[in-house]
Amino acid sequence: MIKIESLGELESTPTPFYFYDTNLLDQTLQRVKESSAKYGFDVHFAVKANANRKILKRIAFYGLGADCVSGNEVELAIQCGFNPNQIVFAGVGKTDSEIEYALDNKIFCFHSESVQELIVINEFAAKRSIIAKIALRLNPDVKANTHHHITTGMIENKFGLSIEEVLEAKEVLPSLKNIKLIGLHYHIGSQITDLEVFRNLSEKANQLKDELFPESSFNYINMGGGLGIDYSNPSSNPIPDFEGYFSTFHKNLKVTSDQKVHFELGRSIVGQCGSLITKVTYIKGTSKRKFAVVDAGMNDLIRPALYDASHAIVNLSSKGDISTYDVVGPVCESADCFAKEIPLPQLQRGDILAIYSCGAYGEVMSSRYNMREIPYAVYSEERLVPFTEIRD
Ligand SMILES: *Cc1c(COP(=O)(O)O)cnc(C)c1O
Repeated sequence: MIKIESLGELESTPTPFYFYDTNLLDQTLQRVKESSAKYGFDVHFAVKANANRKILKRIAFYGLGADCVSGNEVELAIQCGFNPNQIVFAGVGKTDSEIEYALDNKIFCFHSESVQELIVINEFAAKRSIIAKIALRLNPDVKANTHHHITTGMIENKFGLSIEEVLEAKEVLPSLKNIKLIGLHYHIGSQITDLEVFRNLSEKANQLKDELFPESSFNYINMGGGLGIDYSNPSSNPIPDFEGYFSTFHKNLKVTSDQKVHFELGRSIVGQCGSLITKVTYIKGTSKRKFAVVDAGMNDLIRPALYDASHAIVNLSSKGDISTYDVVGPVCESADCFAKEIPLPQLQRGDILAIYSCGAYGEVMSSRYNMREIPYAVYSEERLVPFTEIRD
């Protein structure tokens, strides 16, 4: 994580930009590998959290699989070194060409979300005389206790198959000769920090398997992602509790000896390694309310506007007396606000701020709204294998 002391030559780098602490990414990946290997679990990286090529190559280098939600993500994952045999493809709206692309590239498994989709995948697989592996994404109706925009496993959400739809799928599956059902998939939401939620999910998954597929033995089960990170105290908790997360599933999920458990983690792997670095353009306001206008906007980081997310912000230029500020961007929207009434060492025009915990759903969600530039990325030093040795 970037600290006041490590600003160094970045002081003259044009802002705004994403700064990735690659040492922290390495440490996080090692921890994920160790904690999952302990239980024989397989981990995929959810590409939608961060599709930066350097970051993806780094993650592929550690041997993780990829979890994709579009054909372009499948293509990018392959380009960045992920093994197609470790790529899974989810999404409620896979188009024909996306399905064909994934079939042609022999990905590991489709996570299917509707009966119609099963029929379409079967058709395209038949044309190629191949058998496509699929898992059914079930909607377990489990509450994730997270922001409503990132809750996906409740019956009112568009994701997954309801029990009624699973029964329908079971009826049509025997006639679909070019797809093979290898298992079940769940993903109930994101930024989940209460491990109790994952215990509930495990129990619900045990129950659904017994109720809906008592006669089948699957060798694949995917419990999705969703492990949250500490946005309030990133410096004290730079690496999420992977050990607690995986052990919760190990303790509560019923798994047979021929079954492999998979996960799809996004935020927890990349969230803390990224910061958005921005410069104060103007200080304005009254004695009652002071605004620090910075040169990053909601087009660079949309999480505060979209999810009411709050990110820790530090002044990298000064440790002076504390004052209270709203930190706002230049975009013509009232929602273009990173923080309201937060204490910061007194700010001046030109001070550099770091907005922490921006590695997930940050750079990847940037846009050109207001015709602003897409932010670029800068990487810190490398620890194990030099970052630069991974080809662009
Ligand atoms: C977004 C998503 C994930 C990753 O979620 P995180 O909260 O970033 O871990 C995993 N699986 C699916 C299907 C997703 O849509």
